Amino acid sequence: MQKIKRIGVFTSGGDAPGMNACIRSVVRTALYNNTQVSGILQGYQGMIDNQFIEMNSRSVSNIIQLGGTILKTARCSEFRTVEGRKKAYDNIKAAGIDALVGIGGDGTFTGIEVFSREYDIPVIGIPGTIDNDLYGSDFTLGFDTACNTVIEAIDKIRDTAASHDRLFFVEVMGRDSGCIALNTGIAGGAEAILMPEKETAIDDLIERLEGAVAGKKTSTIVIIAEGDQNGGAYNIAKHVKTKFDFYDTKVTILGHLQRGGSPSSFDRVLASRLGFSAVNLLLAGETRRVVGLKGNEIQHVPIEESINNKAFKLAPDMIELSHILAI
Ligand code: ATP
Repeated sequence: MQKIKRIGVFTSGGDAPGMNACIRSVVRTALYNNTQVSGILQGYQGMIDNQFIEMNSRSVSNIIQLGGTILKTARCSEFRTVEGRKKAYDNIKAAGIDALVGIGGDGTFTGIEVFSREYDIPVIGIPGTIDNDLYGSDFTLGFDTACNTVIEAIDKIRDTAASHDRLFFVEVMGRDSGCIALNTGIAGGAEAILMPEKETAIDDLIERLEGAVAGKKTSTIVIIAEGDQNGGAYNIAKHVKTKFDFYDTKVTILGHLQRGGSPSSFDRVLASRLGFSAVNLLLAGETRRVVGLKGNEIQHVPIEESINNKAFKLAPDMIELSHILAI
């Protein structure tokens, strides 16, 4: 096994709060262990376009509290081709990079998995996405912050909902995962939560809303995950309105504001732990692993296992209590 002299760190796919705290941790852990670090800009695109920057301890000063990613991120179709990866390999080799830490989602993991098989370069993946949809970690970087952002919005929406006897449909992100919807639905006291993992018929939703009216609730908030099968908040609101006109109905799509903002304490600590662990694994001779949190322990699983398994993170007690607490 050759000693690693220089680690390349990059962020890829969608950005998530906590990525900067993670970059900082990777850089400082590596430097502490006398290993150099190159920052790769724009994810895989930066490998192909030769966009490398020297990272020192000061390059990551004052970023732990910043959302987004100082290394930028990109989606790169060229890296999906053999020719693109060859270009990337030639460039990282010329830059003296002999190991990679990639922070991103399952696409990012697939990229480093293929790359490390083709070029025998040690790689570690760190789960960074607000969707919390990756196998191998109870939580992904950015999820907690995104939930806090959503809760802040729900609290404000509830003020106006209660003042006007309004029914609000609030659509949240998560792609095919209902994690953000379930967590924020419970934390925000929603009357109903619609998620892709658990189908809800519109008639059942209406029955629930009628129950809320009968129970003399002054405001009603329904949280809808963007991946829900009923076709998005506007569509659901339209259907509900045709059969149930008790309330003035409003729709709020929270959109990309959920991706921004200063990372929460939880995300900063998780990012720091995962970055530290990724570098230590590489320096211990490990490769092709995804690091993650299991309970309060840092674990690592084979990268293929993370890619090939679907994460199901909706705790049954949370689904049950979301109904009970909404009465
Ligand atoms: P998010 O969950 O936020 O979308 P992600 O990492 O899943 O993050 P993707 O756009 O799916 O985001 O993947 C990031 C990049 O990884 C792609 O733009 C591409 O460059 C690379 N990648 C994805 N799949 C492959 C593949 N099969 N082979 C090579 N590279 C890939």
